[in-house]
Amino acid sequence: MDADSRLRSLTDNLACRRRLGLTRVAGSRQEMDELLSLVLPAGPFASGRSLAQIRAWMGECTRCPLHQGRKKIVFGAGPEDARLMFIGEGPGAQEDQQGEPFVGPAGKLLERMLAAVGLARAEVYITNIVKCRPPNNRDPRAEEAAACRPFLEAQVRAVAPRAICTLGRPAAHALLGGDASMGRLRGRWSQALGVPLLPTYHPAYLLRTPQAKAQAYADLKALVRALR
Ligand code: SF4
Repeated sequence: MDADSRLRSLTDNLACRRRLGLTRVAGSRQEMDELLSLVLPAGPFASGRSLAQIRAWMGECTRCPLHQGRKKIVFGAGPEDARLMFIGEGPGAQEDQQGEPFVGPAGKLLERMLAAVGLARAEVYITNIVKCRPPNNRDPRAEEAAACRPFLEAQVRAVAPRAICTLGRPAAHALLGGDASMGRLRGRWSQALGVPLLPTYHPAYLLRTPQAKAQAYADLKALVRALR
């Protein structure tokens, strides 16, 4: 049966269930993924989607309250075949204005640090746990991160980086769980979404705490070694 026929069959089946008063469907993860791939053909649940398809699926997202205060969605930036992916916590004011991640002073610092270890910004992929700016730059709430998570997971699947570097504690906690301090998390390899992951400090923290830059440089050098 082709996709159109399967979708018609699914629609008829659901309409029949509704007439019978059934308002929920249950099934295995595989069955649910198959159903979702029919009704959301460009969705992150289907494998092999490009970044452009994931962005199109996101649309003008209203899945969590952060959409209320945003100016622009900050989806992410960088090549689809990047070997290294940076994940921060959420867009700040300048990112919200421009729709690009890490364009403020913290982004400039990240660029300089990348250059110092031989990486160009243009060769890494950069995104955030949430794609809309939290009010007053507060940390994203768990429910907001959860609402945005399918997009992040789809981005990781699309880019398939050799390594992920989380920037700051909220991003590390969102991907690794727990509540450990950055002092304990940074510089220690772990794994998330099937990809080796190394947490380091957020560049905004490094602007306030320049004495931590040496540790962040050590982390970036470890990432570069892992890419070889
Ligand atoms: S933060 Fe993510 S889930 Fe929430 S509205 Fe923005 S794009 Fe949608």
